[in-house]
Amino acid sequence: MSGPPPAARPAVALVTGCSSGIGRATAARLHRAGLRVVATARKPETLEEAARAGMDTLPLDVTDAASAEAAVEATTARHGGVDVLVNNAGYGLSGTVEETELERVREQFETNVLGLVRLTQLVLPGMRRRGGGRIVNVSSIFGRYAVPGGGLYAASKHAVEALSDALRLETAAFGVRVVAVAPGPVRTPWGQGFLDQLPTGRADSPYRGFHERAAEYYGAIYHRSRRSLAGAFAIEPERVAAVVERAVRARRPRARYPVGFLASSTLALRRLAPDGVFDHAFVRRQFPVPRPDDPR
Ligand code: NAP
Repeated sequence: MSGPPPAARPAVALVTGCSSGIGRATAARLHRAGLRVVATARKPETLEEAARAGMDTLPLDVTDAASAEAAVEATTARHGGVDVLVNNAGYGLSGTVEETELERVREQFETNVLGLVRLTQLVLPGMRRRGGGRIVNVSSIFGRYAVPGGGLYAASKHAVEALSDALRLETAAFGVRVVAVAPGPVRTPWGQGFLDQLPTGRADSPYRGFHERAAEYYGAIYHRSRRSLAGAFAIEPERVAAVVERAVRARRPRARYPVGFLASSTLALRRLAPDGVFDHAFVRRQFPVPRPDDPR
């Protein structure tokens, strides 16, 4: 941690989205590392294991202003403030840009982007007052590139990357460090959520064939239903939690941490390759893409 907090108390880490996956693993990891962890989720019954392990737990829906304010207030009252915020809560909206209802796009941004901004705004005054703090934003490889059927999720994660960049510079003078953690595929319930939203049953969809291939492709990654490159390199949430801990402990954290081989390799390729090469040599080869000969 940079900056003075915590003087006489362990650093207090508030983690969003701890019902499963990366949030749950991160809360457990930071707890084992000796931080005072406040594990939060919108369904408090999912936090019983965290409470039994000795973590503090609070209900928190990041799309609900009152719920977010109450969680930060309760944390401050009980523990003196939030020194580390892990903005993890999020989900993956799937579907083509043409076919996805705007209401669902709004919900995606409400959770993945505005939820993160809301929590950040709530904890920053305290961090500035205490002269330090750390904010870890869980981004994604899709914060730096986008693939067909995942454009709206990628747009939300690109927003997370941009916010992390701006915040890092806005808050550095106050001793607050802001980090983006960008995993490739991680085996968590996220994958099923993404699969559930694919409009595979829509006989009238001009993207029907594409949706069917997408369902098979993501099923292979998240359910190991067949061998695939991305499936072979998918990682477990504990790997991400270990990187979050590294980002929290580092005296001088990096601006962003890719997590896993797929993330480091494809983000490096994205940085180096022109758009046309990236599309043809990578996206079209590795991801399902609508084809002219798809059934319509
Ligand atoms: P996950 O197991 O589905 O966890 C997502 C968490 O976010 C759950 O606790 C979920 O709570 C919570 N959440 C969703 N909406 C919320 C809201 N409005 N308020 C509070 N919590 C909310 O998936 P995960 O893979 O661990 O995802 C964690 C983060 O990693 C997400 O930001 C995701 O986009 C990102 N990520 C995931 C992958 C991947 O392949 N899995 C890769 C890169 C980045 P409920 O149980 O109540 O829904």
